[in-house]
Amino acid sequence: MASLNWSYQGTNGPDQWHKLYPIANGNNQSPIDIKTKIVKKDPSLGHLQITWNLSTCKEIVNVGHSFHVMFEDKDNQSVVTGGPLTGNYRLHQFHFHWGQTDDHGSEHTVDGAKYASELHLVHWNSDKYSSFTEALDKPDGLAIIAVFLKVGSPNEHVQKIVKALGSVKTKDKKAPFTNFDPTTLLPGSLDYWTYHGSLTHPPLLESVTWIICKEPITISSEQLDQFRSLILTNHRLPQPLKGRQVRT
Ligand SMILES: [Zn+2]
Repeated sequence: MASLNWSYQGTNGPDQWHKLYPIANGNNQSPIDIKTKIVKKDPSLGHLQITWNLSTCKEIVNVGHSFHVMFEDKDNQSVVTGGPLTGNYRLHQFHFHWGQTDDHGSEHTVDGAKYASELHLVHWNSDKYSSFTEALDKPDGLAIIAVFLKVGSPNEHVQKIVKALGSVKTKDKKAPFTNFDPTTLLPGSLDYWTYHGSLTHPPLLESVTWIICKEPITISSEQLDQFRSLILTNHRLPQPLKGRQVRT
């Protein structure tokens, strides 16, 4: 298996990733199943403070296994602080995960229950590191805010992204995508679960403080079909907790 052609299906699929990325069997892998009965209530965890400036939204890129909406991250214009985090984490990109059908597709699960899709807003520790690349392999390098999507009425904000997919149909294609406000993708409540984990696809680095919103947003079945017309499926199954604690 060449490093460039790992995939979500077939002979280079997730159960083979460990051959080139041994960390796939590591102690801090993601996603996980969140067992709400054993989540630890931690009163020291504060509220998240999210400041995202829509002028930093830049372009949409087809990366082969997904599409990424990229943000300008030269300064601290779009950051998350608070919650489990120390200091500022800058917004770098967001993307979604989904499945072949509406009954699965999220990466994290809640008491075994799957959602149709999961949004990941990827941030890096700009107080400690000088770039996303430098932060990528550090234990406190990344913070990813995850939002579950359940099937329901069409999401007008997701629709802006769906409309842009036509211009990035094949790998490495990119197109301008500007003035999009990512806060429109957040649920009403920012109650969250948090734990230490990894990127959910190669290189699977264990550098992520996960912040998972409890409340889902909606997406329609037709919008999910538009995601699938680009890439059929792109989610990893839950990994062993290996003694880690999820806090709320
Ligand atoms: Zn992701």
